[in-house]
Amino acid sequence: MNPLLPTSIVGSLPKPSWLAQPEKLWSPWKLHGQELIEAKKDALGLSAHEQRLSGIDIISDGEQTRQHFVTTFIEHLSGVDFEKRETVRIRDRYDASVPTVVGAVSRERSVFVEDAKFLRQQTAQPIKWALPGPMTMIDTLYDSHYKSREKLAWEFAKILNEEAKELVAAGVDIIQFDEPSFNVFFDEMKDWGVAALERAAEGLSSETAVHICYGYGIKANTDWKATLGSEWRQYEESFPLLQKSTIDIVSLECQNSHVPLELVEIIRGKKVMLGAIDVASNEIETPEEVAATLRGALEFVDADKLYPSTNCGMAPLPRQVARDKMVALAAGAEILRAELGQSRMAK
Ligand SMILES: [Zn+2]
Repeated sequence: MNPLLPTSIVGSLPKPSWLAQPEKLWSPWKLHGQELIEAKKDALGLSAHEQRLSGIDIISDGEQTRQHFVTTFIEHLSGVDFEKRETVRIRDRYDASVPTVVGAVSRERSVFVEDAKFLRQQTAQPIKWALPGPMTMIDTLYDSHYKSREKLAWEFAKILNEEAKELVAAGVDIIQFDEPSFNVFFDEMKDWGVAALERAAEGLSSETAVHICYGYGIKANTDWKATLGSEWRQYEESFPLLQKSTIDIVSLECQNSHVPLELVEIIRGKKVMLGAIDVASNEIETPEEVAATLRGALEFVDADKLYPSTNCGMAPLPRQVARDKMVALAAGAEILRAELGQSRMAK
């Protein structure tokens, strides 16, 4: 059972410096072969431990076994050639060298199920597993086979659904799909993006979540944010569709962002994983600041549906900063619980 205002991180945590170069996306692994397999497992266990110590309620894997939230999943699929690389513009924002889809895509074996089983052994608390959403996957690839973003997204949705079902069987309580693309490609999202997401989540007995954000705190994203004006109303495009969708939880960015809180009203009825921790700044929020952000949201979401969280993944941050931010998140939620007359312990 979750306490009121159950806290969780969106996804990634920084990796230990013995595993990969810190504060860097797509950071190469420092070890190889069996050593790497063991080291990833150790980091996964450590990340769960640190979340628990910080007072986080819903435990994630911290993405310790993945180099990147999209590409690591794709690497495990057939039909994608990682040697054949093309430069594409990711989310209309920055160029990256990405692999090419050269044939029919399929998942020959599970990608994360062994990791999820291991995480399940680390804690009796609920666990959450993030997967890339279909639309965000196609945006991180060059397609020379399907030649249709919609068709490829649909194939990915079917593959994601297979993986998600196995993760739930391994004991995962919440499956989260990361769809930052929903903040960029509005027409495609409306035409087929939400339908593809629902296909990925079809028939899951766990809770399901979709995370839509303005991205990691890297330069390409902060530069883009600077062009968005004083009010960020991108969620206005996706929220009406998500409110009507089969997805249980919507995860959004809020702290230090220019998202008007009243947009949360559009998804009334859904659970809201509200970002109360900025991942684009090393400054640690105070528990009072976290509580104030959450308190502000209570006007638009019922307390029993509010899930305090981070704005996005914390992979690019220094480790201690990420730890301190998790502690602040848990402490801020506790302040608000006390105000609502419920402490974490009393449930
Ligand atoms: Zn994010």
